[in-house]
Amino acid sequence: MKKPILVANWKNHPESLRAVTPILTGLSRKSAVYKKLSTFIAPPLVYIEAVSSKIKSFAGLAGQDIFFAMEGTYTGAVTPDILKSFGVKLTIIGHSERRALGETNEVAAAKVKTALRSGITPLLCIGEEARDAEGNYFEFLSEELKLSLEGIRRKDDAHKLIIAYEPIWAIGKKAKDAMPPADLAQMVIFIKKVLTEIFGRESAERIPILYGGSVESGNANELVATGVQGFLVGHASLDPKNFSEIAEALL
Ligand code: PEP
Repeated sequence: MKKPILVANWKNHPESLRAVTPILTGLSRKSAVYKKLSTFIAPPLVYIEAVSSKIKSFAGLAGQDIFFAMEGTYTGAVTPDILKSFGVKLTIIGHSERRALGETNEVAAAKVKTALRSGITPLLCIGEEARDAEGNYFEFLSEELKLSLEGIRRKDDAHKLIIAYEPIWAIGKKAKDAMPPADLAQMVIFIKKVLTEIFGRESAERIPILYGGSVESGNANELVATGVQGFLVGHASLDPKNFSEIAEALL
């Protein structure tokens, strides 16, 4: 069986390179735990070299985003080959905070294709903004997933994908405001059903589904029991103790 997956999304934190060191020191104290998982750290790009040298033995390096074009001249962009040359193995795509800045499903699909072509694992994020009594969010999610995977149909590609279900309303809160485990279990089944419509049952079964949205040490254990294969962790990933307890919940 594949190892559970744990991805730290540092977003635009910490505030300086100097503040990265204590986080890395804290992480390395629990390297034995992280090694038992597929652990990835997605730091701000400018910290990537400092982080990569310190996590090499127990975690992989991840991008928080990927540029949609493989080559060309694009001032301000970091193209996939540059990411790869720094050892980036996985990238978050379509995070809700990027979608809020205008990233569409079409752009997310282009980025998934670019990641696949570059040999970088795409971790595609989907999630509804709010829940409604009529269940319209099911339709929203189905469309978001299908459009963000538009044009990706080969089984070989499907087997490289990872999906992160991140309900937007549950991001950046306290553990008590994360998604209730029973609801998450239902969403995992629903996402598998949509993936089955896209890729067929056998391939869909092979695509790991992660959960993200206020995962902390206090709720990780109950969220693991929902059928997810791992977590995408935001704020708690900057706190080594909290993050290591989340990791332990996945073992
Ligand atoms: C995220 O933004 O990907 C995330 C999961 O954040 P948090 O854990 O802070 O909710």
